[in-house]
Amino acid sequence: MLEVRDVSVAYGAIEVLRNVSLCAEPGTTTAVLGANGAGKSSLLRAISGVAPVRSGSILFDGQDVTQIPAHRRARLGLAHAMEGRRLFKPLSVQNNLRLSWQFGARAVPWPTALRDVYDRFPILAEKAHVPSGLLSGGQQQMVIISCATIRSPRYLLLDEPSLGLAPIIVSQIYEFITDFAQRSGIAIVLAEQMATLALKVSDRGYVLRRGRVVQHGDSCTLLADSAASLTASYL
Ligand code: ATP
Repeated sequence: MLEVRDVSVAYGAIEVLRNVSLCAEPGTTTAVLGANGAGKSSLLRAISGVAPVRSGSILFDGQDVTQIPAHRRARLGLAHAMEGRRLFKPLSVQNNLRLSWQFGARAVPWPTALRDVYDRFPILAEKAHVPSGLLSGGQQQMVIISCATIRSPRYLLLDEPSLGLAPIIVSQIYEFITDFAQRSGIAIVLAEQMATLALKVSDRGYVLRRGRVVQHGDSCTLLADSAASLTASYL
């Protein structure tokens, strides 16, 4: 289980998260919702160890990792697909995947892991030897998510996988996330501005507003609760 307890994050004097708590159980997907600037990315960055946590704690299966640097959290099984298409852009698609696989748990042999990715996203097989920076936004997002999942993580953070993509690509990516969640049985935390989309594929949801959790609960209830103004403003 992945736990965030009373975490506050500040960039210099500016506090962007205040006393946020969240629980993500294995075998479930947890949505983090909120408008632009609400603090979704900062929360994921705090979990992976790249945002400055001012107070509170982060636990992986009961182990307090708050003081542990990001690269060691990755070794403990955390994968973070960051917002903003973070790839080694001059490297080919296949080399990006290979690098990520090498630094992961290697639970699946490389040929099988690669075949799984190409079966799921055939366009990536066609582009295997193309520098990833030359791919379209949607294809780059497929590579980013595949780089995260190919590590066989125990905890997976996905930051706005739908950002800036055409609806058809968003559907493909969300189909993949749903399928991966079912197959892997790991804890997934999914930050999204598109609340309806995220609530449909998640088990629980947390709504952030200006760095605070203003609502949380099971996703069906949040989705159905369109009468509640707090949620409705994000749907
Ligand atoms: P978005 O969807 O735009 O990414 P978000 O909900 O993920 O929004 P964050 O990116 O976490 O929100 O940003 C929360 C607040 O923190 C914003 O006001 C943002 O300007 C600020 N912020 C984010 N990163 C930094 C940084 N490195 N230094 C200073 N302020 C930052």
